Amino acid sequence: MRSPDRGTVHIVGAGLAGLAAAVELAGAGRPIVIHEATRHAGGRCRSYPDAATGMTIDNGTHLILAGNGAVLSYVRQIGAEGELRAPAEAQFPFVDLADNRRWILQLGTTRFPWWIFSRRRRVPDTALRDYLGLVRLLAFSTDRPIGSLLDAGSRLYQRLLRPFLLAALNIDPSEGSATLARAVIGATLMQGGRACRPFLARGAIGDALVEPTLRYLKARGVSVSFGDELVGFDGHEGMLSRLDFTGGPLHLSAHDSVILAVPAYVAGGLVPGLKVPTLFRGIVNAHFRVDPPPGAPPMLGVLNGTSEWIFAHAGRMSATISDAGRLFDLPRRRLAEMIWHDVARIYGLPETLPSWQIVRERRATFAATPEQNALRPDAVTRWRNLFLAGDWTATGLPATLEGAIRSGRRAARLVAARLRTVP
Ligand SMILES: Cc1cc2nc3c(=O)[nH]c(=O)nc-3n(C[C@H](O)[C@H](O)[C@H](O)COP(=O)(O)OP(=O)(O)OC[C@H]3O[C@@H](n4cnc5c(N)ncnc54)[C@H](O)[C@@H]3O)c2cc1C
Repeated sequence: MRSPDRGTVHIVGAGLAGLAAAVELAGAGRPIVIHEATRHAGGRCRSYPDAATGMTIDNGTHLILAGNGAVLSYVRQIGAEGELRAPAEAQFPFVDLADNRRWILQLGTTRFPWWIFSRRRRVPDTALRDYLGLVRLLAFSTDRPIGSLLDAGSRLYQRLLRPFLLAALNIDPSEGSATLARAVIGATLMQGGRACRPFLARGAIGDALVEPTLRYLKARGVSVSFGDELVGFDGHEGMLSRLDFTGGPLHLSAHDSVILAVPAYVAGGLVPGLKVPTLFRGIVNAHFRVDPPPGAPPMLGVLNGTSEWIFAHAGRMSATISDAGRLFDLPRRRLAEMIWHDVARIYGLPETLPSWQIVRERRATFAATPEQNALRPDAVTRWRNLFLAGDWTATGLPATLEGAIRSGRRAARLVAARLRTVP
């Protein structure tokens, strides 16, 4: 088969990186085709109907902080602002199951972290000098483990920095990359409460990010081909000339471009010699079909439990556990019971397990260590018409929606720049 039109952009992978690339390029008169291996879009950020609970559930509960500017502008662009919700002020309630202590971190609405200076608002039992220790994390030259820069025994670390960085980097911060931690803290905590407002999907994350994108793209003539898995390619003189899909080969013209927006382990297998992260960390999500008790906060941080964050949605409570490899071999029901035990205890709900589902994503993100971070490639490849996108490319951020969307936009801009120079 030949590529449909001169100058077609082929995007491989319909996760958020591929979708963001398509949105960036759509409407400029260029033919665009998205090739997706599975039967659905959204990749790791998809939602789907679940038979066990009779609900639509998310592959993972996705939290977006206001400092994630690319995600929020993307949501505005696809017309889906109404699908996200956030409190007017950045407030983070916590409970420590070791001593049942509860507190609310109130970061306020300003552009500067004034909360650090207020004894009432900062992390309980911390002093201003504890926060000065953060300077070490924000000022260093070569990447190193976060654990070598922060005092892991301090209350600030245990009650805020560890849970925050564990969620953001999906790795125990003791081994996580300080460069990535600095990027996240610099865009959120250091920017005051305004940058920390937590946005969650009103319903399913797919209804906020994926379905509106597909409608946006359809209205602009972008076609999405499902069940279309890329298995190889051919090229000469620095240009790809053929894409091999399970359904057969696709011959490219010199004007066509390709954005490869597949996970790192797929890209590494497809592109000979490409350096990619090779280690991954898992995330466990549990979903329970139950009405949250009145007054349950949209999200609650949990210390010293199995659960790390508990989310309250209409008719559903969900819990997330990051860097959860240690839990992957437990029987699913046992895991659901352990997580529900925390939820029931915290909210005074019956111990009887409600209808539940466990979602285990083994390769949820690349392992955000300094060594793996150093393996992330740029979007430009040795093939002049092949560009990379994905949360694992060199975005400077951990593997998040923000990074995925930024990477897709960058690849799209590189394609647009190339097309301006191709006669
Ligand atoms: C459980 C979980 C919780 C998370 N929580 C958060 C959060 O709270 N906040 C946040 O910002 N981020 C979160 N993330 C990270 C976020 O989901 C990812 O960073 C983002 O979705 C990655 O998008 P992507 O397009 O780079 O990759 P993917 O979503 O992996 O998309 C790649 C796409 O390529 C397709 N594909 C693969 N191989 C081929 C092939 N050969 N041919 C064609 N198509 C192919 C795949 O099917 C997939 O659709 C979470 C992730 C998980 C798993």
